[in-house]
Amino acid sequence: MPSEFNFLSCPTSVLLSFEFNMKLTYQPFELLLKHTFTIAKFSRTSTPVMLIKAEHEGQTGYGEASMVPYMGESFESAAAFLSKVDADRFKYPFDFEDIIAYLDSIAPGNPAIKAGIDIALHDLDGKLRQKPCWQILKSDPAKMPLTSFTIGIDTPEVIIQKVKENPDCKIIKVKLGRDSDKELIKTIRSVTDLPLFVDANQGWTDLQQSLDLTYWLHEQGVLLIEQPMLKTDPDGNAWLTERSPIPIIGDESVQRLPDVEKANGVYNGINIKLMKSAGMYEAHQMILKAKELGLKLMIGCMSETSCATLAAAALAPQCDWADLDGPFLTSNNPYKMPEFKDGKWILNNDNGLGIGLR
Ligand code: MG
Repeated sequence: MPSEFNFLSCPTSVLLSFEFNMKLTYQPFELLLKHTFTIAKFSRTSTPVMLIKAEHEGQTGYGEASMVPYMGESFESAAAFLSKVDADRFKYPFDFEDIIAYLDSIAPGNPAIKAGIDIALHDLDGKLRQKPCWQILKSDPAKMPLTSFTIGIDTPEVIIQKVKENPDCKIIKVKLGRDSDKELIKTIRSVTDLPLFVDANQGWTDLQQSLDLTYWLHEQGVLLIEQPMLKTDPDGNAWLTERSPIPIIGDESVQRLPDVEKANGVYNGINIKLMKSAGMYEAHQMILKAKELGLKLMIGCMSETSCATLAAAALAPQCDWADLDGPFLTSNNPYKMPEFKDGKWILNNDNGLGIGLR
């Protein structure tokens, strides 16, 4: 009965206790999607999420691992990973470079569960230092970009319905990557003039057809295209990037810090997601690296609660575009909805992530 499940009133499993006297606990949670979500290659109705709490001296940091099935993580893999974490490893649990290096030494991959730990520790760190995370990360709330509202592949009727459910976002993101791409855009254009982001999710194959489509999409008011071709095809993506009238953004091909350098010369920019980057620390490092290389930056999300969304929002002012619509697309968010105004998330002055408990 995931929709009736209230983790805040449930006992959580005690995971470990550091020398620092911190308790880290976790709780599996099935996050329900408002609509069956279809992208180029997959369809689903819910997302397994591990909710994490880090407690110290009466303060609680909240974290979240959103494990969308196509990324390969699950409750089982997360629990297996957590069982290998050595409680006595950390003297001081806020040296994030050291923490990520340690988590990587336990096992490669597993970026979402690593992110969950990293986010909980960032929230706790902010609360103990009595500062908002965005301030610690040197973000300027006034530079918060507009966030887009994502619409998956569906029938014209459902697409029109979804556009009408837009919670006042000023940009619509459309998932393409099938034969009916132009029809889908025309359907959206029949109900809204808002600027569009397009995400092909590796679904395009023919170079010339793709290039023709980028010109057509440009005329339709599309601002950028995410991951047009296979992540394993840098040459194809680079060919398109060189010729496209709108920016081409690497998403599936860019997961962690070393991928930023590889994206240079292949894409105009990269889409950073905390569930790929193993959390806030490395996402921030990726932002700094991308800026150094002159790459554009988008910050995105998976199906997530407000917790991971606020973690990404703390870094979003350092990016050009945001696609942080997780809480709008889910129906049983266990946290309060953060303030959203004029198409943007509002960073509050609360310590840590600024997460509100229901
Ligand atoms: Mg994408």
